[in-house]
Amino acid sequence: MSASLRWAWAEIDLDAIDHNVRLLRERFEPAALWAVVKADGYGHGATDVARTAMAAGAEGLCVAFVHEGIELRRAGVDAPILVLTEQPPETAPHIIEHRLTPTVYQRPFLDALVAAEPVGLPVHLKIDTGMQRVGTHPHAAPSLADAIVQRAPAVRLAGVFTHLAVADADDEDSVDFTDQQLETFAKTLALLPPVPAIHAANSAGGLSRADARLSFVRAGIAMYGISPGPGVDHLCDGLRPAMELRARIGHVKQVRAGSRVSYGLRHRFDRDTTVATIPIGYADGVPRRLSSVGGEVLIGGRRRPIVGVVTMDQLVVDCGDDNVRVGDDVTLIGTQEGPDGTTERIRAEDWAAALDTIGYEIVCGVSKRIGRVPRRSIDN
Ligand SMILES: *Cc1c(COP(=O)(O)O)cnc(C)c1O
Repeated sequence: MSASLRWAWAEIDLDAIDHNVRLLRERFEPAALWAVVKADGYGHGATDVARTAMAAGAEGLCVAFVHEGIELRRAGVDAPILVLTEQPPETAPHIIEHRLTPTVYQRPFLDALVAAEPVGLPVHLKIDTGMQRVGTHPHAAPSLADAIVQRAPAVRLAGVFTHLAVADADDEDSVDFTDQQLETFAKTLALLPPVPAIHAANSAGGLSRADARLSFVRAGIAMYGISPGPGVDHLCDGLRPAMELRARIGHVKQVRAGSRVSYGLRHRFDRDTTVATIPIGYADGVPRRLSSVGGEVLIGGRRRPIVGVVTMDQLVVDCGDDNVRVGDDVTLIGTQEGPDGTTERIRAEDWAAALDTIGYEIVCGVSKRIGRVPRRSIDN
């Protein structure tokens, strides 16, 4: 969607990405940083983020699916691209053609890769140390690693990794669990041939545990300036959010006390007021129930409540006595200067807390219908 055709868009501050990558690299040193750009760069635009992250010193990129890697290659991105999970066997020729680095944890996929006749294809072996999602059982890792090594020179074992389940939580149970995962990983590694790269940490693991950083941290959410979760909020100082979700007022009207608004007429105005209709809705990624959990937007530097259910294409805001006009700026996520020079901010994490989810889901949920406008911040 071209942003210029609509009064709702997402601004992507590539300087914030650049800043975050540099800051995280410093934190993670001597470990490197690989930038996770799956799901279209968590909704920020994978290609722009990938280029920015590589220029800021990331050493590689991670995606979830082959087509995401192909999209980056087609855009001219040349960096190493790790596909984080196994893919359908039919993708093997595409992986080779586009020089993607596959993850392996089952024989049939390794066989499919080898059958496609690669030459020196780097593969990473994934070990499940307790998340119970994907990865080979630690007991089976040595024989799978052997199978990879024996298929040289078609493939080579370039990395071994695992994934942490609760690195974003700081309670004792979670810390114990992460300790166990890292210990299982270390014990398994001791049984494998030497590998050039070992990795375990996502953003939360990289921020909270020096012992999880290993060769590199696979950093996603923190690179976008969003906290992985409340347990590591205190480690996110200095990160800058990269996405602002913005719009303009599409319609303004005066309503009488006692009138009700939106589908189901669930909100009743208890006094005469001014309402502004904003042309953005749940098909754009603003959750329908955001109004019922206290959702607000910024207009004229003030926080104003969303009233009535968010509809597919529009939502309604109670502006009280403010003198608002069609075309006025609205910030759904981001900052606005207040009338007295203060700055008001609504973060993806604020929506997430209200909706009992995580910031990831908020930014990934901003749909294709919203145009992305890459920009460089002015204060930089
Ligand atoms: C998505 C993902 C990451 C990135 O996680 P963040 O919490 O966003 O940093 C890292 N590793 C794997 C295996 C992933 O699937």
